Amino acid sequence: MIVDIPTSSEFFDSATDLLHSAWDQVAGLLVEFDEIGDFAYEALDEEFDDSDYEQYWKAAKQALTTSFTMVQQGVEFFIKGRIASVSPYLLLAGNPSAWPKQCDKEDKSFSLFRSIDAQDLVKLHDTVFHERFSPQFRTWYEEMRSSRNKIMHTVDKKVSLNPETVLATILYAHEYFCGEKNWIRSRFEYLDKTPANSMRYIRQHEEHKPYVLLQVHTELGVIVEKLQPSKVNRYFGFQKKRRSYNCPSCYEVLMDLDFFEPGYHNEYFKPYQKITENAFFCCVCSYSETVSGQRCIEEHCDSNLVDNEKGLCLVCGAG
Ligand SMILES: [Zn+2]
Ligand SMILES: [Zn+2]
Repeated sequence: MIVDIPTSSEFFDSATDLLHSAWDQVAGLLVEFDEIGDFAYEALDEEFDDSDYEQYWKAAKQALTTSFTMVQQGVEFFIKGRIASVSPYLLLAGNPSAWPKQCDKEDKSFSLFRSIDAQDLVKLHDTVFHERFSPQFRTWYEEMRSSRNKIMHTVDKKVSLNPETVLATILYAHEYFCGEKNWIRSRFEYLDKTPANSMRYIRQHEEHKPYVLLQVHTELGVIVEKLQPSKVNRYFGFQKKRRSYNCPSCYEVLMDLDFFEPGYHNEYFKPYQKITENAFFCCVCSYSETVSGQRCIEEHCDSNLVDNEKGLCLVCGAG
């Protein structure tokens, strides 16, 4: 008998983790680049320019390529997950004569069997799964595979990846397999169980919560700047060109940071936006509330956007 058979949800979990690992790498580099600009150049009283940006990403080429490869592998796992939901045995390659020796005499682990070639996954999927891939997905998948092959097998300097492409690929893949506007929620789930955040002490005290939130704010702040407005709206439900504010709910959590000081939050991404006349919504934590027309209690602040539930001013955080 074949044992240790992978389940559909195991494939989906691994796929999601691969997308997040790739995102970690690229978002980490973008945040680092941004921070270098803020600190090093500010101290020198100089601006960093396009050549800095180019040099930085040239040096990061390998990290970008690795991330892109992880995304491709993640997508293969998503497809395998769907196939495994029909039957994991469909993923086995070759005739029984090519199967591991003695497999009919003793139990063999699924991983000892050769699995079908990656290039056959789409055909297999569309033959057995109840819903075929859309033509757009097929085109996207083929393009991703071929550009990855080009990048892997050439030393041509003109063929390169940029961080925006890798991020957009992650977001598209996740949306296709896991549903719309789901990435930030998935990001929280992933960051909540990183190795450090899995330790017992951390779990008992939940001290990681404000740091996880800070990380999401930090990376989104940089990424929203990089991605096209249409993508930012599609994947995060955030209108890049519209005014946004500090979210009172995120603010309350961030106040638990060890190094939090009043005014500190102003440096961070403001994810709270108007959705109707006086109702606001946070694309990071999904908090939504209305604002009162009352003036903020802080003397130097002339805002009249005070959150009705939390009583916090959206502009200065007083309340
Ligand atoms: Zn929020
Ligand atoms: Zn205020």
